Amino acid sequence: MEILSLSVGMMPTNCYLAAQDGRAAVIDPGAEAERILSCLAQKGWQLDMVLLTHGHFDHVGAVNALQKAGARVGVAAADEIFLRDPERAYAGLRLPVGEELHIRPDFVFHGGETLKMGDIRFQVLSTPGHSAGSVCFLCPGVIFSGDTLFCGGCGRTDLFSGSWTEMRASLKKLAALPGDYRVLPGHGEETTLEYERKNNQLMGADDHDFDY
Ligand SMILES: [Zn+2]
Repeated sequence: MEILSLSVGMMPTNCYLAAQDGRAAVIDPGAEAERILSCLAQKGWQLDMVLLTHGHFDHVGAVNALQKAGARVGVAAADEIFLRDPERAYAGLRLPVGEELHIRPDFVFHGGETLKMGDIRFQVLSTPGHSAGSVCFLCPGVIFSGDTLFCGGCGRTDLFSGSWTEMRASLKKLAALPGDYRVLPGHGEETTLEYERKNNQLMGADDHDFDY
């Protein structure tokens, strides 16, 4: 599997293009649809699906354009509400509302599914906390961690449907995965699961209480 990473939009957000045998999945196309499409064209990759780690506006801004270009769009059922409701998608953040919202996904998942694209398997791991429908996508050797796990941190839990208790459980779930993975987060630098187990205090939070 070949992975391209694009930094898109004003946050900015990491958008990943994961391809094999000429077919590509785009994870979290937050903005800049034209750039994403021209990247796919340059590589000669056929757009197959869009996978959303969650429904916040900064991860979904280019979804409608990619869907028009032929992508099947998938999101966790619990985060579908963000796609239908711009107020929720902005999750209380005071930012200008874009017209790209109101997205109709082609399929939803609940966690535990394996999504197939040719020979690639994306395992959907439910990791609520940043939002109720936040998920990570696991491929061999790689985790697309969305806004659940960041390099040295984790996503905020104070927005609509977020939960610090669930976030802690989700980080524990990730820490307990066997072996090491490349971790590709929704914002910031890439990291590895082993590095985070050793250096990210939030991942080994068993014996500590945090004031959140
Ligand atoms: Zn988010």
